[in-house]
Amino acid sequence: MRIGFGYDNHRLIAGRTLMIGGIDIPSPVGEDAHSDGDVLIHAIIDALVGAVAKGDIGGHFPPSDERYRDADSKELLKETLKITNADIINLDTTVILEKVKLKPYIEEIRKTLALILNTDIDRISVKAKTHEGVDATGHGESVEAYAIVLLNNP
Ligand code: MG
Repeated sequence: MRIGFGYDNHRLIAGRTLMIGGIDIPSPVGEDAHSDGDVLIHAIIDALVGAVAKGDIGGHFPPSDERYRDADSKELLKETLKITNADIINLDTTVILEKVKLKPYIEEIRKTLALILNTDIDRISVKAKTHEGVDATGHGESVEAYAIVLLNNP
């Protein structure tokens, strides 16, 4: 078994879609990014490649590469599974977002991730919290995500 950890953050700006775990979340602001900016999937990708010690998301999907402009992060996650080539025992994640409540979308996010990751929903955990009004994330200027994954037979 191998364990992996990932983190990501993105600035939140008007005129962008807020993508969290493959779901378009209704919000006046969204992630500023070269790709679709899905902060949760990006943290998961870093956890997966981290578990197999194969670099990071920026190395595999460089923001300088025009192929990844507005890229669907769900597709990047599918590509990442080929890199890790392992079964997922479980994935635990936390999203930190101040102004938009994620609770109504958590089950849909878990279902979406389980489908892409080819595993059961009871192995996928998605938690949401605020930053208690502190710092940029607490002022609603950014969104953050943490992910930890355990792999079998990498
Ligand atoms: Mg990112």
